[in-house]
Amino acid sequence: MTKIFNDPSDFAEEALAGFCDIHSDLVRQVPGGAVRRHRPAQPKVAVLAGGGSGHYPAFAGLIGQGFADGAVVGNIFTSPSAQQAYAVAKAAESGAGVVFTYGNYAGDVMNFGMASERLAAEGIAVENVLVTDDIASAPPSEAEKRRGIAGDFTVFKIMGAAAENGADLTEVVRLGRKANGLTRTIGSAFAGCTFPGAGSPLFSLPHGQMGLGLGIHGEPGLYDTTLPSAKELGQELVTRLLAEAPEGAGMRAAVILNGLGSTKHEELFVLWGTVAPLLRAAGYTLVMPEVGELVTSLDMAGVSLTMTWLDEELEPLWTAPAETPAYRRGNAPREAGALHVDETSDGGADLVAFVATPASRDFAGACVAALEAARSWIHDAEEQLGRMDAIAGDGDHGRGMVRGIDAAAAAASLTLGQGAGAGDLLAAAGDAWADKAGGTSGVLWGAGLRAFGKSVGNSAAPDALELASAVTAFADRIVQLGKAETGDKTMVDALLPFVETFSRLVGEGQPASKAWEEAALHATEAAAVTADLLPLKGRARPLAEKSLGTPDPGATSLAMVFTVMGPHFTAAPGSAQAVPGRDQAIPGREPAGAQA
Ligand code: ADP
Ligand code: MG
Repeated sequence: MTKIFNDPSDFAEEALAGFCDIHSDLVRQVPGGAVRRHRPAQPKVAVLAGGGSGHYPAFAGLIGQGFADGAVVGNIFTSPSAQQAYAVAKAAESGAGVVFTYGNYAGDVMNFGMASERLAAEGIAVENVLVTDDIASAPPSEAEKRRGIAGDFTVFKIMGAAAENGADLTEVVRLGRKANGLTRTIGSAFAGCTFPGAGSPLFSLPHGQMGLGLGIHGEPGLYDTTLPSAKELGQELVTRLLAEAPEGAGMRAAVILNGLGSTKHEELFVLWGTVAPLLRAAGYTLVMPEVGELVTSLDMAGVSLTMTWLDEELEPLWTAPAETPAYRRGNAPREAGALHVDETSDGGADLVAFVATPASRDFAGACVAALEAARSWIHDAEEQLGRMDAIAGDGDHGRGMVRGIDAAAAAASLTLGQGAGAGDLLAAAGDAWADKAGGTSGVLWGAGLRAFGKSVGNSAAPDALELASAVTAFADRIVQLGKAETGDKTMVDALLPFVETFSRLVGEGQPASKAWEEAALHATEAAAVTADLLPLKGRARPLAEKSLGTPDPGATSLAMVFTVMGPHFTAAPGSAQAVPGRDQAIPGREPAGAQA
């Protein structure tokens, strides 16, 4: 259990602030995360690690000489937003380019990808190196789909050392990808972690059981088996890893035996007592192995074993000195560059003057009401959505949606007060959603709302056909970014039936309100039948079988939000108040099939 917190939704931000205070000699907090305290004396490649919080010392604990130049810090187990990644890159960048490096998760890929587009457009050289070390999450034939877990540590370390030596961006990226190609991890979970403020862990295993193939976001193991003795467990982990030894790799390896948060060091040492002799007996030289907590998952109980096969170019980078808040090795030279000065600016939005017609401002008011309606329904459903997501994902969908809609509704009210039309208001709401929610669904909702706004514009209230174009734009953007298809068990499974029905009915001349109602019913049914599907995208994919019988959380929330927003979007301009009261039963309110 996590016992020390204030408002649980502020946990990650407060932890980061405390971390930056205690380690203020080494790190500096910036909007979106943290960077090194000193600016490099010469331009150097900025290696920026990232991902959600809850993995300490990954990732902010690894900022420093010989390791990362900065970390982009999301909410617990949730991808940071594109805005956060962009802001940290701007703070860390010193003229030799930026490389984002992170575990392979859809939300991170999209957010770091969108930040990269923005940096590149400003002329900053930027690359992404994904870590895919978890051998349990996909077969070798689909190695590029694997998740990143504790192998993050060796890959980031090697890239950090290369950048410190003055390697250029192309070289740092080449070495990072090479290290990732030579890194394998297998883990085993004993007990799930508990989010701050939550009453129970994300999963639990029956006494005497363990889950082989853990994730680092509270995902349970892929296969549950009987908890063996330490010797048998060590054997199992070593056998599975060596079975995946990279072809042609040598006999020297960096090895990490990693605890997930609440497994004691003594237990890890007992396990090491089996693992090390087995690896040595197989002919390996263990180069500066580590036993400890390097990539954790809040207070999860579990272990993972990582090997990075080394060659003459990777080994010196693995063994090079480093000095970071959580990790010291050798004698790293003192930082030479100038001290960064703390700034208060977030490089953020300047005040803009909005130009909009009265009709568009009226519709903007309806959009605020729609977002407010969505907000109260999402708050009601938060826990349920989280439980659905915990079955095969990481349990953060409810919290992510709450953070997203709260930020979107606040941004919408603010811009309405500043005289924005509907297009600008929805763009601001979308950006705020993506920035605060993080995660896969957050970036998709944010980008979708922005596209909806662009389609609606600031010059008129949309008629039924224009509204159909706007929801089509919303869907197109989500499909373009997430690349999900019908049947992949994602929000797209509810969204496309909605768009299809709504467009068809208004095309046939039905009034928007009637068409929206029908379309929302169709989306709600489509969301419910995702229970029968296996997820083919997102974090739930590796645990596909476990998700059978539970509808997709993102499809469920989408159907629900579209249902409650409809009356506001489709009421005549200026009559946004004429909508169902909160207590009126609306289909989709109870996500069907969610399990406790
Ligand atoms: P995360 O998966 O990053 O933890 P959330 O839990 O907030 O994010 O959202 C999970 C939902 O995101 C899934 O239920 C699914 O509907 C949706 N999703 C995941 N990947 C994709 C994708 N590639 N395209 C569309 N929707 C997706
Ligand atoms: Mg999730």
